[in-house]
Amino acid sequence: MGKEKQNEQHFSTPRQTAPAAASPKKTATAGVWEERWHPLREEWVIIAAHRQDRPWSGNKVQHAQNDLPDYVADCYLCPGNTRISGAQNPDYKQTFVFNNDHPSVALNAPEHIEPPCGIYRNQPAHGIARVVCYSPKHNLSLAELDMPDIVTLLRVWREQYCELGKRPDISHVLIFENRGEVVGVSNPHPHCQIYATNFVFKTIETEARVSRRHLEDTGRPLFKDILSAEKNDGRRLICENDSVIAFVPYFARYAYELFVAPKETHPSLAALSDTELRDFAEVLQHVLIKFDNLWRIPFPYVMTLHQTPTDGGDYRGFHFHAEFHPPLRKPDLLKYLAGPEIGGGNFLSDTSPEQKARELRAQSIVHYKHAKKERS
Ligand SMILES: [Zn+2]
Ligand SMILES: [Zn+2]
Repeated sequence: MGKEKQNEQHFSTPRQTAPAAASPKKTATAGVWEERWHPLREEWVIIAAHRQDRPWSGNKVQHAQNDLPDYVADCYLCPGNTRISGAQNPDYKQTFVFNNDHPSVALNAPEHIEPPCGIYRNQPAHGIARVVCYSPKHNLSLAELDMPDIVTLLRVWREQYCELGKRPDISHVLIFENRGEVVGVSNPHPHCQIYATNFVFKTIETEARVSRRHLEDTGRPLFKDILSAEKNDGRRLICENDSVIAFVPYFARYAYELFVAPKETHPSLAALSDTELRDFAEVLQHVLIKFDNLWRIPFPYVMTLHQTPTDGGDYRGFHFHAEFHPPLRKPDLLKYLAGPEIGGGNFLSDTSPEQKARELRAQSIVHYKHAKKERS
């Protein structure tokens, strides 16, 4: 009964706050309620931030421990350990790349597959799936790596993109990190994955298509126009240096969604200068530390690098960037994908991108674990 009453109260607030959303110069955006166009995906996002405090009695989210050892004997990613395939990890000192023992795509996936009926199509699941360990230390997340080590990791990502992308049987190289149990990762040893596939992933395909069209229509890369809009507004910027910028996009689908991008248009990491690569590492590090500091937990997210496909297509106007899609709205509150997202295909966000950006911007760029050490 009490809950129903609360619901009624919550639904009465938007009428009071809706006018604020209509005037973009206002800074108070907590109650924003409107639809925003996502220019890279060509779809609407419903922002219904007036609902963010609606009562919730779902499952509580479990977080990874804060105090992990730097080596775990039964971790299949720690140096020297034996993996499930029987392969033994080398005694690696920095990054370590290996072919995934349980690949979703592989060069030895069945070549001869049963032809389907009628209008259906299929093709072999050919590709290469790899794992990249960021560090030999089991407890050293990307946020806690030193700057030179992040630069080294960016170089490894670049090498992998170039090496795999060069292959005639690979159309696209997706580099991504799933972090945290809430996105299905049970092993906290910091690592990312690479799916080099014989097709182009849907989001990249859409971004490539709309970016090329925008360039043809306006003479400008779409992402540069997005960056101008973000700079002009300013409320969603998180941090920047000379050549790289991080922001919560206007059209964020997740509460703490965040993009990191070079200011100049480059098709992939491979095209960044050494200075831009260092700048990218710096902004990446600051963003990751802010994420962790927000609730003083290893902040879960899905991170993907959006780079041009490698199938030889026309990808003029494509602007390399990294996207973070954190699944949590609050420390113990998961954004569930339900009717609108799964059933209808458009996102409904219960939070205001401006307010979430303000929370992230306010965070220190000293990791809370280090701050703790300095104090003691
Ligand atoms: Zn480990
Ligand atoms: Zn993207």
